[in-house]
Amino acid sequence: MIKEQLNIIKVGGAVVEDEGSLTGLLMSFSSLRGKKILVHGGGKIATEMADKLGVETQMIDGRRITSAEMLKVVTMVYGGLVNKNLVARLQALGVNALGLTGADMNVIMSVKRPVELVNFGYVGDVKYVNVKALTSLLDAGAVPVLAPLTHDKEGTMLNTNADTIASSVAVALAEKYSVTLTFCSSIPGVLKNVDDPTSLIKTIAKADFDPMVADGTISAGMIPKLQNAFEAINSGVAKVVITSPSNLSGGTTILMDPETDD
Ligand code: ADP
Repeated sequence: MIKEQLNIIKVGGAVVEDEGSLTGLLMSFSSLRGKKILVHGGGKIATEMADKLGVETQMIDGRRITSAEMLKVVTMVYGGLVNKNLVARLQALGVNALGLTGADMNVIMSVKRPVELVNFGYVGDVKYVNVKALTSLLDAGAVPVLAPLTHDKEGTMLNTNADTIASSVAVALAEKYSVTLTFCSSIPGVLKNVDDPTSLIKTIAKADFDPMVADGTISAGMIPKLQNAFEAINSGVAKVVITSPSNLSGGTTILMDPETDD
């Protein structure tokens, strides 16, 4: 049976915060045909709002620690301000956007990350994606806009990485759809030299990735992004791309691991 196409676009915090690139992304997204889902990050807006409210932002190795107070801020900012503005902008472009967190219709359930070396606080690791609910919304003509928030189904919201939400939803929906997952951030794709946007790497395999992390070519947010991308392409997602808003059909394509005989 030929599976129906589904586009899942993940848009990073830097794009959401830059009016020019956000407009470009929303225009391109609105012109994509067929079923589609937008997943968004939040980034600096939560930090700015936390400052205004007197809530301290704690980071360890570039990763946010979500205290009980910060959880309130990210719930308001990601689930409210950012999500609803994106929905309104898409509605203005004729897209029947529906903003959701993981708690809505129990779309994404997670468990609070266990405390090991670092206590990340109210951060959720995805355990379950509600394929039935998302499929029924897509069939009804809705375009889900997913905030980087999940819930534990015991009444608590949890802050969850948007790249992880995008890849988890893509993998879960791959059983029903031929999914193209596009990570859209402010850089044109994976670069040989982060400071040179023209040094784009067109395709990348896991075997290329490990040495590039070891020699520092790939660092920071690009490491977990690529880990999510490899996980998705090796778990049934048809196509995974890392690119920028102005170049949705270009960027870096993620290659599947070669089949082994054992
Ligand atoms: P997002 O826009 O989704 O929030 P991140 O900021 O988490 O994305 O990750 C992308 C960042 O990773 C880039 O902005 C860049 O600074 C960094 N990066 C590190 N190594 C590379 C590389 N080799 N190619 C591209 N980006 C890289």
